[in-house]
Amino acid sequence: MAWHNWSGNVTAEPQQIVSPSSESELSEIVRRAVKDQQTIRIVGTGHSFVPLCATDGLLLSLDNLQGVVALDETRGVGTIWAGSKLHQLGEPLLDAGLALHNMGDIDRQSLAGAIGTGTHGTGPTLGNLSTQVVGLHIITATGDIVEISTANDPERIHAARVSLGALGIVSRVTLRLLPAYRLHERTWVEPFDECFGRLDELIAATRHFEFFWSPPDDACACKALHPTEMESHELKGKREAVQGRLERYVQEARIDFSHRIFPSERNRLFNEMEYAVPEAAGPACMQDIRRLMLERFPDVTWPVEYRTLGGDETWLSPAYQRDAVTISIHQAAELPYNEFFAAAEEVFRAYEGRPHWGKLHAQSPAELAALYPRWEAFQKVRQALDPQGCFLNDYLREIFAVNP
Ligand SMILES: Cc1cc2nc3c(=O)[nH]c(=O)nc-3n(C[C@H](O)[C@H](O)[C@H](O)COP(=O)(O)OP(=O)(O)OC[C@H]3O[C@@H](n4cnc5c(N)ncnc54)[C@H](O)[C@@H]3O)c2cc1C
Repeated sequence: MAWHNWSGNVTAEPQQIVSPSSESELSEIVRRAVKDQQTIRIVGTGHSFVPLCATDGLLLSLDNLQGVVALDETRGVGTIWAGSKLHQLGEPLLDAGLALHNMGDIDRQSLAGAIGTGTHGTGPTLGNLSTQVVGLHIITATGDIVEISTANDPERIHAARVSLGALGIVSRVTLRLLPAYRLHERTWVEPFDECFGRLDELIAATRHFEFFWSPPDDACACKALHPTEMESHELKGKREAVQGRLERYVQEARIDFSHRIFPSERNRLFNEMEYAVPEAAGPACMQDIRRLMLERFPDVTWPVEYRTLGGDETWLSPAYQRDAVTISIHQAAELPYNEFFAAAEEVFRAYEGRPHWGKLHAQSPAELAALYPRWEAFQKVRQALDPQGCFLNDYLREIFAVNP
């Protein structure tokens, strides 16, 4: 059976791809696979650029475990089936007067897949999506359903939030939610030097600010989102006239509920590397990436994305115990990226950057252990839950330094 990820840079031939529709069925499947010594991997939407989901064993999809389990508007929490796609959540949450605290560029990912790699949006005080997780059900290698929550397991929740699918199968997730809110979106283009000259001011002015820097134009497509009580018909002003590469990033100002504003469409396939560097190092790192691209890789025309990310306590979170700036570089899926990404990675390394778990990087286990103070603690939790490494594929064995 052939499987490939979104951009097509990862392919695999799983023996089986199975989509169970209950937790008990999942448990049964795990028990059988472990008995047959089949490697088990779990796939969400397959939007990761690294071989996290690749296996020649059993590939599990939770596409039949989607939707809301229960919402509690008063407490601001909701339990959701882990296979739900983020785009399926906005409307049911809104019906209950609730919303996710933040979202990334797209909403195609599964909930468990997004949480499992530390997927994030932008906002200097806003943690990644997994920071809102207060509990999960994990089906472990014994087939048992283990509940890990902030209340019953305050230590292991730090391992379970971002786990790369290495602890077992997440079947349901309980999240903290906000009262539903509207966002006012403004998008515009300005020269890099201007944008950079007032970057602190731009970041402080709204709840979510980010920009895409376009190398051939040396200009930034800026996006600012801020909660508002206004209705869209109260908006004034026209769309700024922009031509060329950045045109698609600029649209008329709009107001709508958050889940209708956050996501964009990404129709052209690309490959991506992203690093989270300490917040204070963000501007210098961005300048070095810009210099690298203008001087050594002038043919790369894909924009660089610059976002902010609040620190957290999750052991494998790229924002573990530090506020961060995330910088993402892209290349068209049909073009080679190795040389460019390797050179950029040297820049990110110099700033003690931590790679996004779903995006391309070449960090060794020793380097990762040095970047993550609780690396060993995570490995202990993983070994205890999966001593035989049933959930490890070649890629995870490599980055976790686990012998075959
Ligand atoms: C076009 C595009 C835009 C993106 N935008 C952003 C962005 O704005 N911000 C950002 O941070 N990232 C972004 N990403 C990266 C993306 O969010 C992550 O790679 C995310 O993990 C993908 O979610 P998925 O559902 O496709 O997971 P997959 O790639 O399918 O899986 C990711 C990991 O989660 C595990 N997993 C999946 N389901 C389960 C489960 N039920 N139980 C246990 N483990 C599970 C998998 O085994 C794997 O380790 C983007 C990627 C693309 C292609």
